[in-house]
Amino acid sequence: MLLHYKCPSCGGNMAFDVDTGTLLCPNCHHEENIETYNDEYIEQNFDGEDTVEYRCDNCGGTVITDADTTATSCSFCGSGVVMGDRLAGKLAPVKIIPFTVSKTEAQEQFKKWCKNGRFIPNSFKLNSRIENITGMYVPYFIYDLHSKVTLDAVGTKVSSYRKGDYIYTETKFYQVSRDFDLFYNKVPADASEKMQDEIMNKVEPYHYEDLKIFKTPYLAGYLAEKYNYDAKDLFNRIKTKVFPFADNYLRKSVAGYATLTNKDESIQIQEKNSMYVLFPIWIVSYDYEDQKHTLVMNGQTGKIVGKTPLSIGKVALWLGGISAASFTIIKIFSGISGGVWW
Ligand SMILES: [Zn+2]
Ligand SMILES: [Zn+2]
Repeated sequence: MLLHYKCPSCGGNMAFDVDTGTLLCPNCHHEENIETYNDEYIEQNFDGEDTVEYRCDNCGGTVITDADTTATSCSFCGSGVVMGDRLAGKLAPVKIIPFTVSKTEAQEQFKKWCKNGRFIPNSFKLNSRIENITGMYVPYFIYDLHSKVTLDAVGTKVSSYRKGDYIYTETKFYQVSRDFDLFYNKVPADASEKMQDEIMNKVEPYHYEDLKIFKTPYLAGYLAEKYNYDAKDLFNRIKTKVFPFADNYLRKSVAGYATLTNKDESIQIQEKNSMYVLFPIWIVSYDYEDQKHTLVMNGQTGKIVGKTPLSIGKVALWLGGISAASFTIIKIFSGISGGVWW
């Protein structure tokens, strides 16, 4: 089922507009508030279940999608189309953070970021790629968690003092018990197979004051994906993410002891609640020296994650310039640490 968002005043295809936060008609500039947009203007096109080919209602062209795509644009006429059947039932997101960084803004920021990188190869055709950046909603699950942290240990505190000709060392022993309930709210994990976890972790944080009740028109004109991993699949990743915070809290609470001998320690992390949501990113991918690279921007905060590729030519030049002065130092260092000069 393909959804189109028709303009009530001219019948054009509307798309979500970042600057106004509304559905905007590109023909007549009519704006519609997404909260109050009347369902009768949503045109539905049934193509059967589990299809990957849809017919665009606007131009009659064929829209071919990946099985995970929930929103895309028609490659013939450019109008935004949303796959309603892939956003229904248990595939229906509960909430969404709409884009707040516009395409133009994202393009400018990407260009600036690349210019500031030290090793941009001369052959680097990133600028033209940046013209074609993609705005995409990535599926996430966010979790409310309860961690139970307990510790039973023996701690020592040591002091010394002088009395006459003697120095006395006094060791005091303490029974140390800790029992904490820690609550972490809305901890995110991306649920898309395509997105690298490492990159997505770095794109965070998203600010939750912009979380809106999900409505399909937010996706109009953007790319969106459904989840490949559900809340259960992702729970181990969430535990790994939260564990260091709980552990650190516990360590801090016993920081005053000279030694600590554990008798019993446990950190249990449990899910209280989880929610399927969509978060926005701008994405550029490009090939450089036979390798695929990806730059990702948080579509809410503008934070950019990625690595600029190193051009061997430029690295060599740079190293050549400084090597006379620093080569000996580096050699000495690697001698001391047993490291390898790379
Ligand atoms: Zn219109
Ligand atoms: Zn079309």
